Amino acid sequence: MFTPDRDPVFLIPGPLSTATATRAAMLRDVDPWTPEFGARTIHLLDRIKALIHADEEFACLPVPGAGVNAVEAMCASLIPRDGKVLCLVNGHYSRQMRDTVQAMGRAFVEHAVDDGQVVGPQVLDDLLNRHPDVTHVTAIHCETVTGALAPLAELADVVARQGRRFLVDGISTFGGVEIDARKTRFDAITVTANKCFEGVPGLGFVICRKQALEAGQGNSHSFSLDLHRTWQVLNEVQSWRMTPPVQVILALEAALDGLQAEGGVAARAARYRANADLVRRRLTGAGFTPLAGDECASPIIQTFHCPRDPKFDLPDLIARMKARDYLFSRGRTAVAVTFRVACIGQIGPGVLNSFIDLFLAELASAGVTDLTPASLMQETANA
Ligand SMILES: *Cc1c(COP(=O)(O)O)cnc(C)c1O
Repeated sequence: MFTPDRDPVFLIPGPLSTATATRAAMLRDVDPWTPEFGARTIHLLDRIKALIHADEEFACLPVPGAGVNAVEAMCASLIPRDGKVLCLVNGHYSRQMRDTVQAMGRAFVEHAVDDGQVVGPQVLDDLLNRHPDVTHVTAIHCETVTGALAPLAELADVVARQGRRFLVDGISTFGGVEIDARKTRFDAITVTANKCFEGVPGLGFVICRKQALEAGQGNSHSFSLDLHRTWQVLNEVQSWRMTPPVQVILALEAALDGLQAEGGVAARAARYRANADLVRRRLTGAGFTPLAGDECASPIIQTFHCPRDPKFDLPDLIARMKARDYLFSRGRTAVAVTFRVACIGQIGPGVLNSFIDLFLAELASAGVTDLTPASLMQETANA
């Protein structure tokens, strides 16, 4: 039975709580091998491009699967086999992107900063001066475990000024943070259906500069993830190369209608920012320490140090909140044990305040009093 009101509240960063209309749109069987569905697909791709003001210089290409498939398709299709990549690393997803680049055998150098921090434009400029052989730079817009938001436009300016190519993982920000492809210069950016679009999982996209796609013909070691082939088929027959995730697409169309009805990306970004400010203000006010500093705190997710109090038992708290229909999660970072609260999806202050009230009540009933970060305690012990 379809019981939309019995689902838990998703405060994990994806998948997330979706609108009933989005889930209801999936209750159809639709033949994707028709000219009508092809036209619908082209319309959907154009709609996604328009959200970041990407013009005719860009193509939007679908990549079925998880977000990581879109990231892999972007790297495989755009980085030449003799290219060299500078991977900016500051958390789980940038480590995964570096590993992706490595797995496909491309040469790379990495520059890592602590989880919770971001690489700034001056540091990037210095790095590129030191590595004139680097052809491509990869970066994550928002690291979705640490909650750190990179200064994308500034980084893009540096890469463009240095004459290199910029590949961006925009999976957790696209649609929920304003991005303007007319001002922020990159060769490609990734997105999935199930984050700020508030759709369901199963489909990603790469928005690519056509010139880079053309130059990338033959780059890909993978047949199914080859964006140049996907682009060719789309241009030739206005259809999919392989069976599309039909119901995911129907849900995404409804989700994008919802985004439009909300007032577009600017309105959604304001709602997420208000959600994130609420979570940060209330949990910081209660005594928790956020991992990311104010200068890079994202509107997507807020991540906090687990406290040193031995009565703070994160798995137990997660289970207790789950029993009350709220899902939140541990954040695996390289520097500290953290928990995180996602601020995206069909949620607002009502749900977030209820979550925090219950969470603080659970802490009090467990007798947790010392919220000093566990990891800071270690630093003090080592000092
Ligand atoms: C969610 C996410 C991904 C992809 O996750 P999948 O589990 O592969 O869908 C990639 N990068 C970032 C920044 C993300 O937030």
